[in-house]
Amino acid sequence: MIVQKFGGTSVADPEAIRRLIEIARAARARDGRGPVLVVSAMSGVTDALLTVAARAGAAHVDDAILRLGPLRERHLAAISALAGNAKGNEVAAYTNAQFDELEAIARALGVLREVSPRTLDAVASIGELLSSRLIAIALEEAGVPAAWIDARRAIVTDDDHTRAAPLMRETTTVLRALVTPLVEEGRVPVLGGFIGATRDGITTTLGRGGSDYSGAIVGAGIDAREIQIWTDVDGMLTADPRIVSNPRLVPQLSFAEASGLAYFGAEVLHPSTILPAVERSIPVRILNSRRPDGSGTLIMAQRSENGTPVTALACKRDLTVVDITSSRMFMAYGFLRRLFEVFERFRTAVDVVTTSEVSVSVTVDDRRHLDAITEALSEFADVSVEAEMALLCAVGDRLRADASVAARVLRVLEEVPLRMVSQAAARRNITVVLRQSDLATAMKRLHEEFFE
Ligand code: ASP
Ligand code: MG
Repeated sequence: MIVQKFGGTSVADPEAIRRLIEIARAARARDGRGPVLVVSAMSGVTDALLTVAARAGAAHVDDAILRLGPLRERHLAAISALAGNAKGNEVAAYTNAQFDELEAIARALGVLREVSPRTLDAVASIGELLSSRLIAIALEEAGVPAAWIDARRAIVTDDDHTRAAPLMRETTTVLRALVTPLVEEGRVPVLGGFIGATRDGITTTLGRGGSDYSGAIVGAGIDAREIQIWTDVDGMLTADPRIVSNPRLVPQLSFAEASGLAYFGAEVLHPSTILPAVERSIPVRILNSRRPDGSGTLIMAQRSENGTPVTALACKRDLTVVDITSSRMFMAYGFLRRLFEVFERFRTAVDVVTTSEVSVSVTVDDRRHLDAITEALSEFADVSVEAEMALLCAVGDRLRADASVAARVLRVLEEVPLRMVSQAAARRNITVVLRQSDLATAMKRLHEEFFE
């Protein structure tokens, strides 16, 4: 059994949904059953719904209701494009009922002038309820026997509204009871991503971008052979395409490499969202729904040993380097603790840290509290701050075993002034911090060295 998760752009309109149907049909033909589908809201819908809630809560009820109009139309138009009369009417009625309820909620919020996380979840969940219901009907209409599942029945979560966590044991039990039999009956189960409910049946969401997480939860729950994340890019690339004109597709990535790349600025998929899959060693494949014939990027707990010495490059712009020098001659113990307590107090994460005998350098990308941090640090250290810096990171499991790779990275960057260099215990990446104006040159050189 495989799980196919489709993101917002892959279900954006009737055309995208027709592509989805063909992708599912092909998987079904290959496997003889399934797939299980997990779908996002149509692109932009979650943002729009959250705006509606915010406007209504700020007493702009008319504006909130006005914003619902085009959303309702967009869904109804997709229904009439994809479903014939009888079934289409049923889904249209469901859709209209959801929008009527949204209007009622907007009015209530306008009176209360307060939007609770629980209400936000009730509003945001509508996007996935509508898209999943619509897609189930569209599949049926296209001759693929499907079955809609209200994901709130299937994903059991805690009550931490707007970022709920799944209760995996209960969820697994429900998924096996609900999803697996449908597959065995020859149907394609369709669930909305992102949403769930507490044990008491109160609607929750898993946090923004949570549909990937749903895909992994469902895949882990039904013990899928593979989880496919269908999106609008070909997979993970070897470098930032805004800098390197010919990045390659990374064919395979270990979970640790994917985590490193995401932490250091690569986009596409946040590895923590696929943790339930990784824990069960279920491979996760990123694919492009506009180019379904591509092989994508496969993320696995452990990947095969072959491949390039560096797996991919990532970068992060707009960083600030903070140099903190102990005002005593040497670093007394307790210095690091005091220093990091300051960052903790202002809830500011640091990305890279390097130390010398008297000083510590850290990078931060959240500048909001920088002045206050500098002031607090100045009580016991000399502080200097340098903005417009960037981080460049080479990631690869092979960096561990082969010490020459790190040396090669630094040799290639010979002429680029490096502000910080770091390689930590896991030794899966080597990271340099440099001036932002040097970033493009540095990334291009590394890319030439390792991939061209
Ligand atoms: N629709 C939700 C969001 O936009 C979840 C998702 O698409 O992953 O955050
Ligand atoms: Mg997404």
